[in-house]
Amino acid sequence: MKTEVLAGADLRRAVEALKNGEPVIFPTETVYGLAAPIFHKEAVKKIFTIKGRPQDNPLIAHISSLEEAEGIGEISDAFLKLAEAFWPGPLSIVVRKKRAVPEIVSAGLPTIAIRMPSHPIARSLIEEVGVPLVAPSANLSGKPSPTCLADCLEDLDGKVRLAVDGGECEVGIESTVIGLLPEPVYLRPGAITKEAIEKVLGQTVSDPLPNGPILSPGMKYRHYAPKAKVHLCFRKEEWREPLIQPNAKTLYALLRDADRKNVSDIYVDCNEQIQKDAAIMNRLLRASGQIH
Ligand code: AMP
Ligand code: MG
Repeated sequence: MKTEVLAGADLRRAVEALKNGEPVIFPTETVYGLAAPIFHKEAVKKIFTIKGRPQDNPLIAHISSLEEAEGIGEISDAFLKLAEAFWPGPLSIVVRKKRAVPEIVSAGLPTIAIRMPSHPIARSLIEEVGVPLVAPSANLSGKPSPTCLADCLEDLDGKVRLAVDGGECEVGIESTVIGLLPEPVYLRPGAITKEAIEKVLGQTVSDPLPNGPILSPGMKYRHYAPKAKVHLCFRKEEWREPLIQPNAKTLYALLRDADRKNVSDIYVDCNEQIQKDAAIMNRLLRASGQIH
């Protein structure tokens, strides 16, 4: 089987495939996702198999309306404030789940991560299927996330029937994940900063405790990692070739490019501006194996 690529303008076959329990690759503004309808357990199971994703790593539910959120999670005032301020956009909110959400989606946790993407193709797809779509990134587990269709096919060609092309991802880095259980915890840094969330909630948002309980299981895995060894250079004296100077949008493409060239080592310019960006520093520290 070869993966068939559909143009974003024609979603009919993608909708049909999803309804029939076939996972489909689709674009979002953060990274490309591999989708399945949330209540279709067999389809969700296929996502884990296709990606080689550990079963204890929960999936994010993508919605196109607030009513859909009410069907799967416990909605609070804080949730509505964040939704109003940042949706549609790159923020996933973790809340207590409703019983209707299958265990396989939440990896056995009593919670569910919910996000309303802004990409028009993602929104139409969810709307037309009529239920939230759960989706992790459309890559092999552990590899850098895919920010264009070619990246998805590099990892998953032949393992998925259909892929929808939506061009390059605008954000290029996975969503911010915030827990509201009910106190706000900044679980995964992303384009939406902790400070921006604090401003909207009018309260302090904490970071997960380094030795505390694992609140976001996916974060314990090695992630975003190319085959090449990644060296972070905090001073110019440490620069070597090949050197990359990434931003949030280009990071994954640069890491994948290094692997295509089969280089053994890759050096990253971690200048002051990058050091100030919690989202990109988090991915770089993981890519270089310094945090797990
Ligand atoms: P990915 O789809 O690969 O970006 O991974 C989604 C990430 O969101 C996971 O790795 C988790 O860290 C986080 N996540 C998803 N669902 C939950 C949840 N119920 N509780 C905490 N974190 C979650
Ligand atoms: Mg991922």
